[in-house]
Amino acid sequence: MASFELVEPTNLEDAFALLDDDDPAVRPFGGGTALMLMMKAQLFKPVRLVSLRRLGQRFDGITLSQDASSFRIGAMTTFSQLEHSPEIGAYLPIITQTMKTLANVRVRNVATVGGNLAHGDPHLDLPPVWMTLGAEALIVNKSGKRLVPIADLYAGYYETTLAQGDLIAELHVPVRPAWRSFYAKVTTRAEHDWPALGIAVSVQAEGRYVKDVSIVLSAAVDKPTRLVAAEDLLRGATIDEQVLRRAGEAAVAEVHIETDNRGSAAYKKHLLSVHLGRAIQTVMGE
Ligand SMILES: Cc1cc2nc3c(=O)[nH]c(=O)nc-3n(C[C@H](O)[C@H](O)[C@H](O)COP(=O)(O)OP(=O)(O)OC[C@H]3O[C@@H](n4cnc5c(N)ncnc54)[C@H](O)[C@@H]3O)c2cc1C
Repeated sequence: MASFELVEPTNLEDAFALLDDDDPAVRPFGGGTALMLMMKAQLFKPVRLVSLRRLGQRFDGITLSQDASSFRIGAMTTFSQLEHSPEIGAYLPIITQTMKTLANVRVRNVATVGGNLAHGDPHLDLPPVWMTLGAEALIVNKSGKRLVPIADLYAGYYETTLAQGDLIAELHVPVRPAWRSFYAKVTTRAEHDWPALGIAVSVQAEGRYVKDVSIVLSAAVDKPTRLVAAEDLLRGATIDEQVLRRAGEAAVAEVHIETDNRGSAAYKKHLLSVHLGRAIQTVMGE
C-alpha cells in the first residue's frame, strides 16, 4: 500500500486548511471502516486522511433538547454510543432496533454517524431510517454552514451532494411523539448481512386509520428513496389486507429495482410487496 498522511487537527480552521484541496485523494476520516475496505480493495488510494476525532465540540455527543423535541447528534458519535444511549432508546427506539442487526460490535464501536451518512452506499441501514424520521444534517465548510434534509444528501449510487471540503458536523433529529417507526432489514442470507432491501416506515395513526406516513426504500435502489405513491395510497386510509396489497403494488410500480447478488429484480419486487405490508402492520401494532 502506498504511504499516505494521517492528520488529526484539533480545530475546524486547521481541518478546513488540511481538506482544502481539489484532490479527491484527500478525505475526512470518521471511523475509517468504509475507507479501510476501499483502501484494501485498492479502490481508494489516499494522499491525506483528515481525522475528525479530535475536533470535539459539535462533532461529539448526543443531546436531547430541554423540551425533548429534538436530538443533536455529533457526527463522530459511534454506533455503539447510539445503541447504548438510554435517551435514544426512550425517544427513538427505531435506532436501537436497527443497531441489533447492523454489522457487528467491532464495526459499531468505531463507525460514526457522519461517516455513515457521507459514504453514500445505498445498502447502509441508517440513512433510510434518518430519512423517515425527518432528520437533517448540519454541514460545515470554510465558507459557512447549511442544514440539509437527509434525502438531499444523495444523488445516486455512491454519489452524494457533499462537495470537497464539506464536513457533516451534526445530525438533527426531531422527536415526534405522535409517530411510530420501524425498520425492516430484509436479508436473503444471515440477519446481520447487508440487506437485499431496507424499508423504513413512520406512521401517525389512530387505530387502523393512517393520518400520515413516510416510507423510505433502500438497498434495492441506487439511493434511499421515498415511496411517494405508496404513501399517498396509505395516507387517509383505514388499513386492511386490500389496502396493504395495493400499497405494495404501488411501491413496486414506482421504483426501478436492479438484479444483483442479493436477488433478481423480480424476487426483490416480490419481497418489497410482501415486506412493506408487514412493516406497516408492525408499526401499527398489529
Ligand atoms: C464488516 C463490516 C460489516 C458491515 N455491515 C453493515 C451493515 O450490516 N449495515 C450497514 O448499514 N453498514 C454496515 N457496514 C458499513 C458501516 O456502516 C460503514 O462502513 C460505516 O458506517 C462508515 O462509517 P465510518 O465512520 O467508519 O466512515 P469512514 O470510513 O470514516 O468514512 C466513510 C466516507 O465518509 C467520509 N466521511 C467520514 N466522516 C465524514 C464527515 N463527518 N463529514 C463528511 N465526510 C465524512 C469519508 O471521507 C469517506 O468517504 C459494515 C462495515 C463493515 C466493515
